Amino acid sequence: MCSTPAGRHWDGSPRITRHPRPLQVAATSPTRLLRAGQSSRCRRCGNRIDLYQRADQRPIALHPTELTATLVPEPCRWHLGGGIAYPHGDGSPWCRIPHAVLCPCRTPLCRTGPHLNAIRRHLAVRTRRLTDTGAFTPAPPTTSSQTAQHPARPVVQMLLCRYLAEHTIEHIRCVAQTRHRHRCPHPVLAPTRPAGTWRLLPTPRRRGQLTLPDALMSVYDLGHLPYSEQLRWRAQRCPQHVAAPGAADLAPAGWQPFDPLLHTAHIRTRLPHPPARPRRNR
Ligand SMILES: [Zn+2]
Ligand SMILES: [Zn+2]
Repeated sequence: MCSTPAGRHWDGSPRITRHPRPLQVAATSPTRLLRAGQSSRCRRCGNRIDLYQRADQRPIALHPTELTATLVPEPCRWHLGGGIAYPHGDGSPWCRIPHAVLCPCRTPLCRTGPHLNAIRRHLAVRTRRLTDTGAFTPAPPTTSSQTAQHPARPVVQMLLCRYLAEHTIEHIRCVAQTRHRHRCPHPVLAPTRPAGTWRLLPTPRRRGQLTLPDALMSVYDLGHLPYSEQLRWRAQRCPQHVAAPGAADLAPAGWQPFDPLLHTAHIRTRLPHPPARPRRNR
């Protein structure tokens, strides 16, 4: 019986050893984020977007792939430098483009040629497919008065963490698959279970990150609910499906770990107005 020499597979081919390379933020990096672009989904159309910071730290959602610069109108061209998104081309034959230009659920921001129109149509078909299969539920349109009352994407605190929700609290939908192989239509917020409380809590700071000025932010706090209820919210399941471990998830839970820099646009400094109570007739 012969033994395999060290550094070789059983068939004699060389064994390649990869040494993991730790990720670090360079001291000279203009951004303090370890990973500059974070993938997400557009809440209107469900298509993939990459979130970057601009030079002034405001976030921008870019289409995930580069495009040929000559096919993109000049005002729509963006480029990345050191993890920061800049609003113009960098002279290379490629450029990035804001998702808002291509989003099939928005009015185009600028005149788009046949190439961009084709991408837009392709994204529209994908939105339709995601909606039909129940993998994506478009966020309900919001008006300015609605935004003042109930944030379209509230920040929720549970299990000692903060998350950015995908929809308003009332529209967060169970992700479980029903017996008919459809996504469960029930909301996670159930009248039979204890609800969360809107509270003003300090905006978190992160060590080694750029920090925001100290401010209180509006948070839907579930921290006082029983642990099992917080787990139910985190798993995004309605009360009927929390006790049905056999029911598979038909969609991923829509929670995004809250990042005070990336999600600045969703920070509200006032509590939402409580819904008006119906008056009794005397
Ligand atoms: Zn979109
Ligand atoms: Zn359910």
